[in-house]
Amino acid sequence: MLCSTRILARPSCESRSPRCALLSRRVRSRLQGRMLAPHTMHDSTPAPAPSSPLSFRELGLPPTVVANLDALGYTVPTPIQAASLPAALSGRDVMAQAKTGSGKTAAFGLSLLAQLHTEFRGTQALVLCPTRELAEQVAGEIRRLAKSESNLKVLVLCGGAPIRPQLASLEHGAHVVVGTPGRVLDHLRRGSLSLESLRSLVLDEADRMLDMGFRDDMVQVADACPWGRQTLLYSATWPEDVEVLGRKFLRDPVIVKLAEQHAPAKLRQLWYRIEEGERFEAAGKLLEHHRPGRALAFCNTKESCRSLLEALRARSVTALALHGDLDQKERDQVLVQFANRSVSVLVATDVAARGLDIEQLEAVLNVEVSPDAETHVHRVGRTGRVDQEGLALNLVGPRESFRVERIEALQGHACEWRPLTELKRAGAPPLPPMATLMILGGRKEKIRAGDILGALTAAGGVNGKQVGKIDINDHAAYVAVERSVAQAALERLRSAGIKGKSVKVHRL
Ligand code: AMP
Repeated sequence: MLCSTRILARPSCESRSPRCALLSRRVRSRLQGRMLAPHTMHDSTPAPAPSSPLSFRELGLPPTVVANLDALGYTVPTPIQAASLPAALSGRDVMAQAKTGSGKTAAFGLSLLAQLHTEFRGTQALVLCPTRELAEQVAGEIRRLAKSESNLKVLVLCGGAPIRPQLASLEHGAHVVVGTPGRVLDHLRRGSLSLESLRSLVLDEADRMLDMGFRDDMVQVADACPWGRQTLLYSATWPEDVEVLGRKFLRDPVIVKLAEQHAPAKLRQLWYRIEEGERFEAAGKLLEHHRPGRALAFCNTKESCRSLLEALRARSVTALALHGDLDQKERDQVLVQFANRSVSVLVATDVAARGLDIEQLEAVLNVEVSPDAETHVHRVGRTGRVDQEGLALNLVGPRESFRVERIEALQGHACEWRPLTELKRAGAPPLPPMATLMILGGRKEKIRAGDILGALTAAGGVNGKQVGKIDINDHAAYVAVERSVAQAALERLRSAGIKGKSVKVHRL
């Protein structure tokens, strides 16, 4: 009994979800009373995790499903399931911060399964994932969760796999499609996949899909979905671009940020007095002692940036500088390499770093104290985001003490001074985990993120997990791959090309 008419107005909870009717009045009042008091995009307060979560039975899941969960060993909902399932089952859109391993697949999987009508063959749920590995994993978990549904068909549609078998499978229909955005879009364009009857759209690991350059593909896929669908978005991190995506695709979503995942960031600031002539050497020592994985080093002038870069390179630190003398292309290349973790240290002035949207920096180095106390606070605010502890390391020359006093006054507490002599070399500076391959060809040459991922991971290629951020400009594309497979990835792209066409590729 599928409602095949498209829902044109925002439906009530009952009309959007058959499952909603199954929630007993007692459970509904528990939900309204304590857990999901509306947390919308306008209300940044996270939905609190319930003190005593509802059981799977209390959530209104059918006894056969509960029995299957029991058999899988899922006796109690995980925190992300407890916090997001009630809203999802009631038909609301949900935007949740959840990491891999938190049980998020069942959080959306149980919800989309509850809305399915297996007697109808049309695609009713679509899950978009960043990689083939994750898509296979998600499809496997959905099949396990649906054990009590004998004729449910779950189909994986990913780039890098031959398209013919996918076309054949689609001819028989699939209730649930799990795929990567590029390949799903291919099928929509060919007309081999129809989303007319879609009830649930899930964006899994939305932050990673954005990182991998799938934004435009996601937008086009979402545009092909019925307006009245439910959208569930799960993301491990919550940067600005994920928030923007949520605002675009989700309607009045319930926001789920679990308290333990969003503990206020802690910031540790350490201050070192130096003589003027030892500034850049001291910056190198700070990096060798504290060994941050990725750091942003601020200088007050372009000249200082250059001197610092030289000093760091002499110590074998993988560093790049952002300064006004770079043209747009060079600036893009620097930013791409820092954001995708191919470079450990980015040296910049405040002006050059403006608009730099990089989350989760392990450390900020103030190689020169900012003349403006508020700028200092802004600099150090770039580290220690989300639930990670941040570290700000500050070098203070003889003529900079008065600036530190202003910062202390603004912060409302004294600085923690450390002796320079405590800095010991703990080993060679850590190498960045990734390397960047630059492809001479971009959007204008019709190269998309899915094509690059497909070319790299097609049979015998690298594992999708070893592929990082993919950035595509008009005439160039940059793909980050784990350092250990960079050479293999380079050779593969050179020999196999992209979409069968040869491309020029080099390692930055
Ligand atoms: P996920 O975050 O979806 O990758 O799930 C991580 C792991 O947790 C998977 O192995 C699931 O099988 C398992 N899992 C999910 N929900 C539960 C639950 N309620 N109780 C126990 N294990 C679970």
